Amino acid sequence: MVVGDFQRLSLKGVKFMQEAMWYEKMAGKRVICHLCPHRCRISEGQSGICRVRINEAGKLLTKNYGLCTSLTADPIEKKPLYHFYPGQNILSVGTYGCNLKCAYCQNWHLAHTEPSLIFMEPSQVVKAAVEMKKHGSIGLAYTYSEPTVWYEFVLETSRLAKEKGLLNVMVSNGYIDEKPLAELLRFIDALNIDVKGFNNDFYQSYIKGDYKPVLKTAEMALKSGCHVELTTLLVTGLNDSEEEIEALTEWCLSALGKDVPLHFSRYFPNYKLDLPPTLLKTLAKAYEIASSKLNYVYLGNAPELGKSDTYCPQCKKIVVSRSSYHTKITGLKKDKCAYCGEKLAIVVSEAP
Ligand code: SF4
Repeated sequence: MVVGDFQRLSLKGVKFMQEAMWYEKMAGKRVICHLCPHRCRISEGQSGICRVRINEAGKLLTKNYGLCTSLTADPIEKKPLYHFYPGQNILSVGTYGCNLKCAYCQNWHLAHTEPSLIFMEPSQVVKAAVEMKKHGSIGLAYTYSEPTVWYEFVLETSRLAKEKGLLNVMVSNGYIDEKPLAELLRFIDALNIDVKGFNNDFYQSYIKGDYKPVLKTAEMALKSGCHVELTTLLVTGLNDSEEEIEALTEWCLSALGKDVPLHFSRYFPNYKLDLPPTLLKTLAKAYEIASSKLNYVYLGNAPELGKSDTYCPQCKKIVVSRSSYHTKITGLKKDKCAYCGEKLAIVVSEAP
């Protein structure tokens, strides 16, 4: 296994490339990338499936190190993370590229094209986050596109951010191998993982991946002490059957526990898929199934159904109310229900 040393490489016409971590050199200047379960075997001059790791003269380089599409303060609820510092803002940064190919990608212009980019060193991003902390931001979120294929940059930036007392959050498809994940989790405080469905046929046909490694990522993250929430976008007729929702719920319960927040999100046509939006009654059914076993279930992109508030699982009163991205803590005393005293699975910054 070859581990990159973060030396900046001055390749002609390729200004910002760095040597990648987690790859192996093979005969004939070929390489195998071990960052994600695709395990791409890459010939000289070729890129991996994610487009952002390229074999140059037998070395695997990362093409997107330091290349940022945006740097914006967002409500943490937008990630979505509903149980991690609710109502706070976080400086959010993203790049381009992705190792999955969702037919209905909601961020396809970042994942599958080359948007306009700016270069920032990890120290510059952290400096901006420290500045934003003075205005109430809690740290850095690696989001918008897939952060695992920005691995080296996220690792270094999150390490520096931790040194400055900032929190690190990732919004990810969870498609990463165990060793690189373990290394990254040393610095990541919260993770929202897209579990895009609960059957492999769907993953293989519409996502171009396998769902088991995604489940493993969630299990590993939780075990490491990282705060974990899950998001499943329900796509009309493809991953929204009651049987599949039941199977997803059962796995959440047995592998992660009844306190893991699960967000179902409504699909709208995008990128290469043109199916009708998820029926509201399908979302309502998913909510009913999951909330019969799990304590915290939410519906996103469906304000009509009003399922974005947090309820105390014991006394059923609303403890955090949400409307769009306006969050109001209405019944929390630190991490306890202000009405009945029940301890809740929620990370808060201070007593409201
Ligand atoms: S990170 Fe990219 S290059 Fe590496 S295995 Fe995954 S898709 Fe292939």
